Amino acid sequence: MIRQKIVAGNWKMNGSRESIVSLIGGLLKMDGSSSEVVVAPSFPYLSQVNDLIDGSSVMLAAQNVSHELKGAYTGEVSASMLGDFGVKYVLLGHSERRSLYSETDDIVASKVKAVLGFGLVPMLCIGETLAEREYGKTLDVCERQIQAVIDVVGIAAFEQMTIAYEPVWAIGTGLSASAEQAQEVHRSIRAFLAKSSESVSQKVQILYGGSVKASTSSALFKMPDVDGALVGGASLDAKEFIAIVKAA
Ligand code: PGA
Repeated sequence: MIRQKIVAGNWKMNGSRESIVSLIGGLLKMDGSSSEVVVAPSFPYLSQVNDLIDGSSVMLAAQNVSHELKGAYTGEVSASMLGDFGVKYVLLGHSERRSLYSETDDIVASKVKAVLGFGLVPMLCIGETLAEREYGKTLDVCERQIQAVIDVVGIAAFEQMTIAYEPVWAIGTGLSASAEQAQEVHRSIRAFLAKSSESVSQKVQILYGGSVKASTSSALFKMPDVDGALVGGASLDAKEFIAIVKAA
């Protein structure tokens, strides 16, 4: 099964009107790429980025969403609002959301449901902490995080989703998992999905995230179960991000 690669930039809480014009300007100079290129700005910049990428093949992602659909939830942003601004993907369950904002597996699952309900594509982030890896719990954690979503939306919904395996110990630390470590977990995630549906397991794109840099990306992308990358820090530098896209 040939799966298109996705290279997504998670800008986190970075950027300004000005810096975004120059970052997107840099990305748009890139020649055609066989992978899908995605950028995830903070909420206030979605509209600006949507205008800047208009007519290009770059896709827009949001970094979060409310699990509520509408109503009296001050400060929240709904999935339908994201759809209004041209958003295709929504990052869900990022480890920073899980650890800093207490997002549980159940909350993440209800966000996945809200996003799917408006025809957007959840990018479900999963991954273990260093302590969990050291205790040999990596797969248990990933499987628990995925199963919580299967329980709410069903396995068939994963055909409309992507997964990002992001070991917490590799995020923003400069310590990327090796290509072999990533492949081993990606292969196991696919095998876990196959227990519910072989065809879904073959279709779903599984990205790796955690200190991805241009220098480490080609080895990662050679791995058969690594279908792209979710890039944080390195996505804020157009040259570095383009080099990662080119490696895919
Ligand atoms: P990083 O972040 O590339 O800066 O480690 C990845 C992510 O948090 O998605």
